[in-house]
Amino acid sequence: MNLRERLGFDPASVFIAGEWAAPAGGRTLALENPSTGETVGEIARGEAADIDRAVGAAQAALNGEWGALTALERGRILTRMGQLVLENVELLTELEAADVGKPLSQARNDAIALARYLEFYGGAADKVHGQTIPYLDGYTVYTLREPHGVTGHIVPWNYPMQIIGRSVGGALAMGNAAVLKPAEEACLTALAFAQIANEAGLPKGALNVVPGLGEEAGAALTAHAGVNHISFTGSVGVGSLVQAAAAANVVPVTLELGGKSPQLVFDDADIDKALPFLVNAGIQNAGQTCSASSRILVQRGVYDDVVARMAERYAGLRVGPAAGDLDVGPLISARQKEIVTGFLDLARQDGLTIAARGSLAGDAPAGGHYVEPTLVAGVSPGHRLARDEIFGPVQVVIPFDDEDEAVAIANGTDYGLVAGVWTCDGGRQMRLARKIHAGQVFINNYGAGGGVELPFGGMAKSGHGREKGFEALYGFSVLKTVAAHHG
Ligand code: NAD
Repeated sequence: MNLRERLGFDPASVFIAGEWAAPAGGRTLALENPSTGETVGEIARGEAADIDRAVGAAQAALNGEWGALTALERGRILTRMGQLVLENVELLTELEAADVGKPLSQARNDAIALARYLEFYGGAADKVHGQTIPYLDGYTVYTLREPHGVTGHIVPWNYPMQIIGRSVGGALAMGNAAVLKPAEEACLTALAFAQIANEAGLPKGALNVVPGLGEEAGAALTAHAGVNHISFTGSVGVGSLVQAAAAANVVPVTLELGGKSPQLVFDDADIDKALPFLVNAGIQNAGQTCSASSRILVQRGVYDDVVARMAERYAGLRVGPAAGDLDVGPLISARQKEIVTGFLDLARQDGLTIAARGSLAGDAPAGGHYVEPTLVAGVSPGHRLARDEIFGPVQVVIPFDDEDEAVAIANGTDYGLVAGVWTCDGGRQMRLARKIHAGQVFINNYGAGGGVELPFGGMAKSGHGREKGFEALYGFSVLKTVAAHHG
């Protein structure tokens, strides 16, 4: 794929004040196709000077055309961006598949989700309002929801389009001006998104995109005194650095971090219904999903049956290049493959039961970062495979005896992002929804189809703050109280 031709601009560019430009230092980073391991192009290696220019452009936008728009006008632009995303779904799909290694149909779902976020936040922009508050005689008191100002968005490589949609979409809806630092491993759809924003008529500077390394462009963005809110999606380690940087400038931060999300399967569950969710939630995007369900907790009465039926599905899974649109694509990088195979080595070393494995497609290029999806059964809750985020197509199955034990295991990691509960007992559904520590609990489903409308975020080391849904708009705005005394 000739990227420059496909995109209509040089991908080794930063996007600042509505213009494509070479990064300040003129440096680039190699772009790898994870399906082949080949270098397919170059992206910009933005740095502090680019971030500084981008923040300046965002501030100018707030003081200029963008800041003067009404909520309705902002909403219309976002809606138009959503329409243009839909018109460009195939290009975005192709870029994401090549960049992230995502099987084509999964990449297409992400492009459609990006459009859906823009539609949702476009429609919501003029529906966020304050309150009037009854107060002392002679006063009228009301609240206003105002933008923070410049919002910084640091995005990982695993779901660039979806995370840009929920984060930048919400911020723009509330009238903030955004500076986006996409991941160095996958930033092509972020660049295409900027182009789409331009074509949709988003005023210059309302969105700026500076690709680059985390420790350079990313750290410069989080430390910049002109940034008024930071939205970070990524690892716990970097999240904690981002929070420290935000603390130095006393700005609010939303952290969307990792997870070790369980699905709990009770003896009375509808196993036929559960099975596809149990497996898909572990292997989607090759398991490189923050809300991947990497732990399957199964009550002993159905344990053997569930393991056998999951194993049957695993044996049929095929891993191969994104363009082949198989069940599982490659991992993002050689480093990620090394991390995941390290966990599988540990499983073997500790004598864990490998219940089943998928298979590698015959035409998978040798340089691609492939790992066969692997189901590990009979894992004790304290084992590292049951506690650490693996971020690969590996699921562990853990047996339990009763509800109390299931809750203790479910809550027994450092994380609290998502959980699924499979049971037909209505009382148990309600009890567990309350007892499980997670930002989202799904009953007799997992993920609810993605749910742009559903607030999302973590507890404990999975982070804090909420994105997605209407709730996110409160996070992307600040409340002002106005008290007028009129006698
Ligand atoms: P990462 O933390 O290494 O990188 C994420 C982003 O942070 C990248 O853009 C990177 O360039 C940037 N970054 C790196 N160092 C930085 C620094 N010092 N200052 C500022 N920015 C910096 O994470 P990753 O390995 O790319 O992504 C995987 C992790 O992200 C997993 O833990 C996963 O669970 C998590 N994740 C969470 C969600 C969620 O919504 N909760 C979604 C997707 C991924």
